[in-house]
Amino acid sequence: MRLFSLVCAALSLAATAAPVDLPSLFDKRALVKPITEIEGILSDGSKATVYKIVVRSLPHDHAMGPWAPATLQDKGGYWEDTVDKKFYRVDADYLKILNQRGWNMFDADGTVHRTKDRTEFDKVARQELAGWTYEQAAKDGVTNSVIELQPIEQIVTIFLPKNPKASEAVTPLRQAKFSPRSGLGISTNGVRFFPPEPVHRITAFKNIAPLDPKGGHTGFGHEYHYHRAPSVMDNDKSGKVVGFALDGFPVRGPTEADGSAPQKLDSISGHDHDGLGYHYHVSHEWPYIVGGFKGPLGTAVLGDADICDATKTGGNGGKGDKGGKGGAKGGKGTPKGGK
Ligand SMILES: [Zn+2]
Ligand SMILES: [Zn+2]
Repeated sequence: MRLFSLVCAALSLAATAAPVDLPSLFDKRALVKPITEIEGILSDGSKATVYKIVVRSLPHDHAMGPWAPATLQDKGGYWEDTVDKKFYRVDADYLKILNQRGWNMFDADGTVHRTKDRTEFDKVARQELAGWTYEQAAKDGVTNSVIELQPIEQIVTIFLPKNPKASEAVTPLRQAKFSPRSGLGISTNGVRFFPPEPVHRITAFKNIAPLDPKGGHTGFGHEYHYHRAPSVMDNDKSGKVVGFALDGFPVRGPTEADGSAPQKLDSISGHDHDGLGYHYHVSHEWPYIVGGFKGPLGTAVLGDADICDATKTGGNGGKGDKGGKGGAKGGKGTPKGGK
């Protein structure tokens, strides 16, 4: 009798458990210190045990860049065109397409127009965030340029629920209260996931801000972040966990473990099958990483801190991404940039 109940307990555990051991999955080189557990407050006001993950914000498992080609002979990063929606390598062919539309992306000698230093990069932030017109930016800003900057390393602490729980309804990105610091979550290499790139806001100034071959670039806070997961850019078919959303649920690669396409994804790119527990899948289509959240959120702060209160970090002081909150405003299939 006793044996029987033990077997039953074991069986029910196997049916419900989501066997993802978060601390073991992180790149140790990204961690400033071992991952610990503390008590925190999630975005819905509930108390919960959270993982405290202190990371160096630059990847240790791949190189960054290129973003802008220096000349027409070079190849830059990748950019989703706002007119035909194709994902282009930024090279001579693509820059010529832009020039055919009346842009001015390179000189007669083949030198490509790009942000040359931090001052110019910060001008882009100012003109985009302050809602300048193209005419204003053409006079005192940066237009007709490929936007790029080498990112700086930042120490960031991200708090994720240890036992993610589903809310009554999913929260779409445009309603979610995540901060520019936290982004949507974090890759296991310590780099944060950001909302879809606000491509329309960038092209309003005849600029483009390409992603590198791993899906990342530098944001207005000078941090490196992903708009597409490296596993998508690499066409990885292992289906392994590549990171965690801010609600603590795992984010998997673009396929299932057998290489097949994920089936019956919900409106935020997640589902639950085969005893894996709820998880998201990244892809080349909107929302690229996650389209919202299944459960209440953790948060992130700059530096190494012990206070996890996700109800108080909505603004969090960051200049944020070129996307910021606005990047989350795209509807399904239309990654529009907002303000
Ligand atoms: Zn960005
Ligand atoms: Zn799946």
